[in-house]
Amino acid sequence: MRVDYVIVGAGFTGATLAERLASELDKKVLVVDRRPHIGGNAYDEYDPQGVLVHRYGPHIFHTNSKKVWDYLSRFTEWRPYYHRVRAVVEGKEVPLPFSLASLRALFSPRLADRLEEKLIARFGYGTRVPILRLREEEDPDLRFLADYVYRNVFEGYTLKQWGMRPEELSPTVTGRVPVLVSYDERYFQDAYQAMPREGYTALFRRMLAHPNIRLLLQTDWKEVEGEVRFDRLVFTGPIDEFFGYLHGPLPYRSLRFRMEHRPVPWAQEVGTVNYPNEHPYTRVTEFKHLTGQDHLPHTVLAYEYPEAYEPGRNEPYYPVPKEENEDRYRLYLKEAEKLKTVYFAGRLGDYRYYNMDQAVARALKLFEEIAHG
Ligand code: FAD
Ligand code: UDP
Repeated sequence: MRVDYVIVGAGFTGATLAERLASELDKKVLVVDRRPHIGGNAYDEYDPQGVLVHRYGPHIFHTNSKKVWDYLSRFTEWRPYYHRVRAVVEGKEVPLPFSLASLRALFSPRLADRLEEKLIARFGYGTRVPILRLREEEDPDLRFLADYVYRNVFEGYTLKQWGMRPEELSPTVTGRVPVLVSYDERYFQDAYQAMPREGYTALFRRMLAHPNIRLLLQTDWKEVEGEVRFDRLVFTGPIDEFFGYLHGPLPYRSLRFRMEHRPVPWAQEVGTVNYPNEHPYTRVTEFKHLTGQDHLPHTVLAYEYPEAYEPGRNEPYYPVPKEENEDRYRLYLKEAEKLKTVYFAGRLGDYRYYNMDQAVARALKLFEEIAHG
């Protein structure tokens, strides 16, 4: 077989590049994925009872990028959706990110008033303060609050999710869920928040439905590498695996999902409930909130159990953002720079904790470089 481009991985990164190369540059593209389906980790499917579930964990789309929003809007209509999350703290379900509303749910009105006043005076109404930043405050009330939130929301959850304490990871990790000096009860604050109306898989099907694109599923690139002739390769799998772990393996964190059917229309009030302090799982998501299937008489919950990554046994879901891993990644980047016809991109190819929109933005940028370089 002879193609212009091989793209390894049919997730957001691979699908975006394949679509752009095929439609804009009229390139012949072969997309290879070792899974039996397109969509990467964003893949969704109907279970036997007709509930739309996300096999690799709940995916909620949000972005501040008009460019990414406009691009994906060519392949899907949207259902507006603001994700809401609660965390169980001292037996109460309180809004997450931790906000002025969470203060009121947990503390006496007098204490909540005082903390609210101090937060607003110090940071301003509407600001987002990472927990590790809040812990640097000297005011005794703010210190009390920071320690309380750290202990009750971040410490246990992070230990479960990563097997590490928050300060052992890059501050950007816990910074994803800052303390909100506002009454905003949405999990994300991005300008665009919505779910693809017919699901992610349908969106991917439209992205990849181009006569220049051929799909080869259930096939590891290594199996067919020798049989395909191509000009250039885009690799969106793990960069350390590509180089045969030449500089040692990059650490990833994995998860196990347990899907639970319940014969009731609804099981929880909001999309996700987090359990920082109890249970071996971190959070429970009820898909119907995300997908809007509110006509069904039954529901499905996904429980997330973090676990160590073991190649071949489970999936490398999360790169682990911390300095020493970044150093090792840079060694691989140096190898990558030596290869003039291979590009690396995506959550695994770049070893970056990307959200879906960031994966698309990165792919669009790489496409521009390829098109103009
Ligand atoms: P992937 O989707 O991982 O695709 C890479 C593909 O490459 C895979 O299909 C894999 O099978 C294939 N592959 C790898 N190596 C090979 C090989 N050697 N040969 C053949 N194929 C190969 N983002 C959000 O914006 N919102 C969310 O709510 C959200 N929730 C998430 C929840 C979980 C549990 C996880 C793990 C991630 C979540 N994300 C979320 C992040 C999102 O999944 C990623 O940003 C996105 O999927 C990255 O796309 P990608 O194409 O780079 O990688
Ligand atoms: N986090 C936490 N408690 C929570 C929610 C998040 O400690 O209740 C921390 C934890 O370290 C987590 C990180 O913040 O891994 C990022 O959370 P996010 O919900 O963005 O994780 P993702 O959806 O990517 O798994």
